[in-house]
Amino acid sequence: MTSGVSDPAFPFDNSYQRLPDRFFARIKPTPVSQPQLIKVNVGLAELLGLDATALASEAGVQMLAGNRLPAGSEPIAMAYAGHQFGGFSPQLGDGRAILLGEIVGRDGVRRDVQLKGSGPTPFSRRGDGRAALGPVLREYIVSEAMAALGIPTTRSLAAVTTGDYVFREGPIPGGVLTRVAASHIRVGTFEYFAAREDVEALRLLADHVISRLYPDLEQVDNRYLALLEQVVQRQAQLVASWLHIGFIHGVMNTDNMSVAGETIDYGPCAFMDAFDPKAVFSSIDQGGRYAYGNQPAIAQWNLARLAETLLPLIDADQQAAIAGATKVLDRFPEEFAAHYLSGMSRKIGLMQPHEGDGALVTQLLGLMRAAGADFTLTFRHLAEAVSEAVEPIVLQQLIGNEEGLAAWLQAWRARLALEAVSVEELQRRLRSVNPIYIPRNHLVEEVIAAAVSHGDLQPFEALLDAVLQPFDERPGRERYAAAPTPEQIVHETFCGT
Ligand code: AMP
Ligand code: MG
Repeated sequence: MTSGVSDPAFPFDNSYQRLPDRFFARIKPTPVSQPQLIKVNVGLAELLGLDATALASEAGVQMLAGNRLPAGSEPIAMAYAGHQFGGFSPQLGDGRAILLGEIVGRDGVRRDVQLKGSGPTPFSRRGDGRAALGPVLREYIVSEAMAALGIPTTRSLAAVTTGDYVFREGPIPGGVLTRVAASHIRVGTFEYFAAREDVEALRLLADHVISRLYPDLEQVDNRYLALLEQVVQRQAQLVASWLHIGFIHGVMNTDNMSVAGETIDYGPCAFMDAFDPKAVFSSIDQGGRYAYGNQPAIAQWNLARLAETLLPLIDADQQAAIAGATKVLDRFPEEFAAHYLSGMSRKIGLMQPHEGDGALVTQLLGLMRAAGADFTLTFRHLAEAVSEAVEPIVLQQLIGNEEGLAAWLQAWRARLALEAVSVEELQRRLRSVNPIYIPRNHLVEEVIAAAVSHGDLQPFEALLDAVLQPFDERPGRERYAAAPTPEQIVHETFCGT
């Protein structure tokens, strides 16, 4: 830690705190005994106009741990409800997160700065308000990897250890993550007021979301229906982008779905190794509700819950409101399919849509599924198979089925010819969308085990370094590209409590 640096200044400009009192509870973080810095995200700090060196100083770490409040912060826990695994809880809320305030970044974007794991709030119910070190490290790595992959996500500004233990299966070190989001308003925030039949609050919330996230809608005729449409579109695009990289969110409850269209709440999330549309990692998702291939359907289900809350705003005539909302929701499958296909086409090097592209994608996925081929490696190694000149040895090992692969490659190469670009350009394209380094589950578990059992953060730094440049193959990082050995496979991750 650097000393002799003045208190970091946070240029807060808060807006959510101007909403009525029933939207949140004012609550300060509970101090921890001995905070120590794990990481400050220098690039994100710069984007927010924060001084990263000051954040890493002793005074900065006190703030990142919640021991000291930055000037201009107005700490609150946000109220929200949510459907969890299909069942409705009318009151959830920030039980272990405290929003410090909002900052307008150098890019002009307004973002929330929130401490996660900062102590109990009026919404904690029986929880301790804390976060264990493991989930803090997982969220830091996976959220920053998602950002590097170009997928909308909440970000991680910093992580600290608390010096205190939290009690889960046994005592484990605690941590606090500083989370940054375009907004922390969720589908569940709307459900909170709908459950209370508080139409005035719903209108204020919707107007707040429009002015903050969808300002173009302010002039539109039915702005609330248009809001639903925008959220549906962003969610369709988001879930498609998850499928493109083999990401499984793991706990797509409505309280974990942001109306800003960012990936939020990295609990039992995972990247798939062997391709299997039924893949599930969450230890509590017994029925496969949130399996890889089920994510589009669940997103649409969640959006229907959002639509229900907006009905009284959309039209005073309930039948008309339902008709309008249903029409918007019904477009989700089509929107999702379009994003899914264009992204999958790009993954096999196809930029100009042609008939039959979808079938090529489906056939490749069929081969991968039959072989249990590693999702990330298969797409990454396509670049070597663009030309017939070289034997695609890695692909052959991954797919096994030599005849099936040869037939597919032949059809694919014929289709690639229509792109009318050089082999080098095709390879560059393929490698620019198919990552080589992703935060694989076994690597994340290894990082957590080293940090929790003997305070070793070197594996954390090394994995982070690899996944922050996911598309650039760099020497010495072979182990971060490899699929897990059978002994290394992680079958489930536990909820981020
Ligand atoms: P999650 O599964 O992390 O999305 O959390 C679901 C709900 O449980 C939210 O209302 C959280 O604030 C709350 N929650 C999760 N963990 C804790 C905890 N350790 N203490 C208090 N509340 C918690
Ligand atoms: Mg949550």
